Amino acid sequence: MIALAGFGIYSQRSPLPATTQAAAQATLHDATVWTVSAALHTANSAATKLGLCTQQATEKSVVASSTTKPTATTPIETAVKHVTLSPHYTYSFETGTPASVRAAFAKAVAVYNQTGVVSLKPGTSNVFSNHITFGTYAKPTPDTSSTIELGEGGPSVVYSRLTHHGVNHAKAEFNTAYQLAVKESVALHEIGHALGLAHSSDRASVMYPMDQGRIALSPADIQTLKQIYAHA
Ligand SMILES: [Zn+2]
Repeated sequence: MIALAGFGIYSQRSPLPATTQAAAQATLHDATVWTVSAALHTANSAATKLGLCTQQATEKSVVASSTTKPTATTPIETAVKHVTLSPHYTYSFETGTPASVRAAFAKAVAVYNQTGVVSLKPGTSNVFSNHITFGTYAKPTPDTSSTIELGEGGPSVVYSRLTHHGVNHAKAEFNTAYQLAVKESVALHEIGHALGLAHSSDRASVMYPMDQGRIALSPADIQTLKQIYAHA
């Protein structure tokens, strides 16, 4: 999730408990036990939409503290830790996705492709390979909130407990209750979640939880991507 501050004070809406991980287990094939690990940053059950698991993780909130020195490391989503993922992804858009939304995601896709660490190409989803679905949802923010939610996204990984090889069927969406949400910086943030980047307290990172209009990944963001996809 990425938000926009309504006031000058850092204040992230955090109605959810600080659960760090949701790991649901499912037996998808006769004799093979797979583990499903999802960290969809969403209030809706996007995991159900993807048909992968019945549980969802909650948003991990990053609390900017004046006493804590901001870390220059972009953290990794729990769902992709200790899983071997291919750096190759296909992506597609939900039916009816507006052209402006497609254009914003396409720009962000190009930024990730430029890293040389991951590769995102248009294509259809299948159970054997990584895929990101782009789209929109509309969730107006309650008047009592000081921030508005601009988007959501996250990985949903199925992996073998034997080999630790996984497949990520992720998503990244704009909250079109706000037209200002449809922009490249928000797309970069939500794709970051989809690929396994978690929130960073470093303002140079696209994974800082408040939108700063950043359209370039920080060195720490790229470093963490390398960490996630190094073993493939
Ligand atoms: Zn976020």
